[in-house]
Amino acid sequence: MYLKSIEVQGFKSFANKIVFEFHNGITGIVGPNGSGKSNVADAVRWVLGEQRVKQLRGGTMQDVIFSGTENRKPLSFASVAITMDNSDHKLSVAYEEVTVTRRLYRSGESEYLLNGTVCRLKDIQELFYDTGIGKEGYSIIGQGQIDRILSTKPEEARELFDEATGIVKFKKRKKTAEKKLEDEKQNLLRVNDILTELE
Ligand code: ATP
Repeated sequence: MYLKSIEVQGFKSFANKIVFEFHNGITGIVGPNGSGKSNVADAVRWVLGEQRVKQLRGGTMQDVIFSGTENRKPLSFASVAITMDNSDHKLSVAYEEVTVTRRLYRSGESEYLLNGTVCRLKDIQELFYDTGIGKEGYSIIGQGQIDRILSTKPEEARELFDEATGIVKFKKRKKTAEKKLEDEKQNLLRVNDILTELE
């Protein structure tokens, strides 16, 4: 599995639609200060479901939408799509190629798409659990992150190892099952109360 392309439109400094194509091996993105190199990494974080505006270096989520320049009006929406080569089926879907798209409108409306079909954020998150690619994954190492990992609390460092060893999805499933069990216990208590009242 590898990142084949990133398509951005209206996202941060990228007003026009632009496609970055990647191939096997190492690709470097170079440019003067402030030219938008970090915005490319932000685009990947965002499309993978990042909800924390601070991580995207903004004040509100709408700050990711192109806000205009002297010569160009602001745009009304931002869109990012990443395409992964999935010929090794590391992502557990039948497709050879997987495209994840996220759009956000100034009105606040937003949507996620998986290979062109509208889906939930949860579907995207589940697709990438344990691949290291999710927004919490270790495939995007931001500035200062190595220092943070080395000086982080043991529980937080553990999360990173959980992702690398592939047990995150089982932990999430366990949590959901425990929550269901607790809800059922409460329901059972209520039924018992009603039965006692009826007797
Ligand atoms: P450096 O090398 O200094 O780290 P960089 O190449 O990584 O810089 P970025 O931080 O990616 O640059 O891009 C910053 C630029 O993006 C700034 O010029 C900023 O004005 C522009 N920018 C950020 N958000 C928006 C937005 N919503 N609309 C328009 N431009 C934006």
